[in-house]
Amino acid sequence: MEEQAHRIFEYAPAPESRSVVRLRTAYELFIDGEFTPAESGERMDTLNPADEEHLAQVSVAGDPDVDRAVAAARRAFEGVWGAMPGAERGKYLFRIARILQERARELAVLETLDNGKPIKETRDVDLPLVAAYFFYHAGWADKLDYAGMGPAPRPVGVAAQVIPWNFPLLMLAWKIAPALAAGNTVVLKPAETTPLSALVFAEICQEAGLPPGVVNIVTGAGGTGRALVGHPGADKVAFTGSTAVGREIARSVAGTGKRLTLELGGKGANIVYDDAALDQAVEGIVSGIFFNQGHVCCAGSRLLVQESVAEEVLERLRARIERLRLGDPLDKNTDIGAINSAEQLERIRDLVRAGAEEGAESWSPQCPLPEKGYWFAPTVFTGVTQAHRVAREEIFGPVLSVLTFRTPDEAVAKANNTPYGLSAGVWTEKGSRMLWTAERLRAGVIWSNTFNKFDPASPFGGYKESGYGREGGRHGLEAYLVHAA
Ligand code: NDP
Repeated sequence: MEEQAHRIFEYAPAPESRSVVRLRTAYELFIDGEFTPAESGERMDTLNPADEEHLAQVSVAGDPDVDRAVAAARRAFEGVWGAMPGAERGKYLFRIARILQERARELAVLETLDNGKPIKETRDVDLPLVAAYFFYHAGWADKLDYAGMGPAPRPVGVAAQVIPWNFPLLMLAWKIAPALAAGNTVVLKPAETTPLSALVFAEICQEAGLPPGVVNIVTGAGGTGRALVGHPGADKVAFTGSTAVGREIARSVAGTGKRLTLELGGKGANIVYDDAALDQAVEGIVSGIFFNQGHVCCAGSRLLVQESVAEEVLERLRARIERLRLGDPLDKNTDIGAINSAEQLERIRDLVRAGAEEGAESWSPQCPLPEKGYWFAPTVFTGVTQAHRVAREEIFGPVLSVLTFRTPDEAVAKANNTPYGLSAGVWTEKGSRMLWTAERLRAGVIWSNTFNKFDPASPFGGYKESGYGREGGRHGLEAYLVHAA
């Protein structure tokens, strides 16, 4: 009988074709509207984390290249973009948004190849949101006088932007769209392991006829990022990534007069009360921690479940996780793709080892892992206490830590007992309980009876070690505007 049930749920392979992507052997830097090699000629490889296939070589920008990019951004800011009427800037952004939609399939496949995340997510989440962020900000470009910053707020100038590998093109959109809408020019560094979609975005800027220098893309590793954020020609720094690097950047920027926004890590609590609709909550728990392999700064990586329903929730959760399909990210049925890099896989393994050594109990479904590439099975830790590293540190992988609580006060105290404060989820049928809880949670984003929902109109950002500043919505524009005198 059990065998029969399994057979019913077997899926035939449904691979998305990769023929829509034409990979080049090597990609160059994008400076002043043109693709140009790094002065040193240095290159790095980028791989497909699902099978370790070499995808392409990418230039490594050194100090002279960063200098050139910042100078190009300055010329474009002073010569054309900063003074251009908002309605004109908006036209470019609308054009970029439309081209992103036209090339969405190509970009989704490319992002899946370079990042390892399932095509279902790049196609249905990343790319639609990328276009939405450009459309939304295009609409703001001629309405900045009504952004609540006085009658004629000014752009800040040249923005130095450094982004991570977990949502490569979406993080680019979060950074570039508001900056350009507000009249700034940018130099952006994508992550070392996921540079390709940013370089195709550079082609899109050319296709849209964006004036040279308004967008510059410098690829490279941490050293390139350091050179960019430390460059004296940058007026504003925007960073998304780890708290450790965020701290280093905050120190390097201190006293320079540069504006700074930091979007760092998280250890989000997903609180399930005993009156919640449990099947819906289980869906929310699964998407909270297994979406994008848990490589999500606002992941619901700590499940706080009321003791009276804990057994039942865990039973349903395990049954649901057993149905998740891990494997080829290009297969349209895949729920869990590859871990983005060997380094990240090692970090996950380290923390999971620490969880077991500290006495938490781990569970994973029967789940054969592909032989090549970087993979980690979905994992649930129970018997977790507040002191365990798996309850305190950001794992950034498909690993859920489960804690229980008895009263709403205890739920709030445990949820807030973290150095982070980026996101939280609250599952309850009662509106009053939801509002009571949300008012007391120290987190930038709180979802109620859902999780991981994003909208360009909604500001996103954190408290405490999750960083400062907001991205998205009217609030996000403030980072790129100077108040009218
Ligand atoms: P990093 O913070 O190192 O990377 C983020 C970006 O910063 C990348 O583009 C990186 O370049 C760049 N960078 C690295 N060092 C510097 C520097 N000194 N100055 C300026 N830019 C720099 O994250 P990791 O990839 O190392 O991931 C480590 C951990 O960080 C993860 O395990 C996870 O816990 C957390 N993380 C959190 C993210 C979030 O959204 N909150 C996103 C990514 C990671 P390069 O890629 O070339 O190193």
